[in-house]
Amino acid sequence: MPPKEERREALKLVYEQARGCAKCPEFVATRTQVVFGAGNADADLMFVGEAPGANEDRMGLPFVGQAGKLLDTLLGEIGIQRADVFVANVLKCRPPGNRDPLPQEIDNCQDYLFRQLDLIRPKVVCSLGNFSTKLLRADPTGITRLHGRAEIRTIGPRTLRLYPIFHPAAALYTPRMLETLREDFARLPELLAMDAPPQPEPEPEPEPVVPEPQMAAVAAERPQERAEPEAADEPEAPGGPAAPEPPDDRQLGLF
Ligand code: URA
Repeated sequence: MPPKEERREALKLVYEQARGCAKCPEFVATRTQVVFGAGNADADLMFVGEAPGANEDRMGLPFVGQAGKLLDTLLGEIGIQRADVFVANVLKCRPPGNRDPLPQEIDNCQDYLFRQLDLIRPKVVCSLGNFSTKLLRADPTGITRLHGRAEIRTIGPRTLRLYPIFHPAAALYTPRMLETLREDFARLPELLAMDAPPQPEPEPEPEPVVPEPQMAAVAAERPQERAEPEAADEPEAPGGPAAPEPPDDRQLGLF
């Protein structure tokens, strides 16, 4: 397993990629910023919501509005702080007018979430509501039937405990749903105390197939590449080449 620091650095690279994402033209035109997710990059517990809302779009952080406050309260009731977990969404951009995510948008965005799951390696993933539950189970069964039942699932290269629960936004104005959500939250410490499920065997790395003559050509090219750096006609800025813009650490939140 790559050490924690390597995974964290790799997660920052995914963030860099996501924040320049232009796969959904409507989002590029309407978003304030990409909301990548935030929290502990080595968390045992990860939450996956639906999509940023207006507050999240403004702040660049997930679950900072009313639903986020409820999430914090429910976590606090079981002795967990927001800083202990990682929170992300199915979509990294706010759908205009808070409309539902479209299938194409989910498709465009899903690799960012799968990379997050792979790099953070949580033991337990709580899918909040229908969109994340359906995506992570690759099945259309709805949250009303599934909430509160943990199951072991292999998502990409990782096996984890998936725990679908209602979305906190749905519980904001419905006391009965809030009660159910609270009951489902109460089982989280027990799930977190369980051993992580065994991991699948990693796929063997495919052997690179390079025909003999080509290998010789690659070897011959290398010294020259080093001797003649590209863009020789671009004068360097005083003080050396411009540094790439550093990632905004707030986005990466608490880790
Ligand atoms: N609802 C979500 O699904 N995600 C957020 O980040 C905020 C509200």
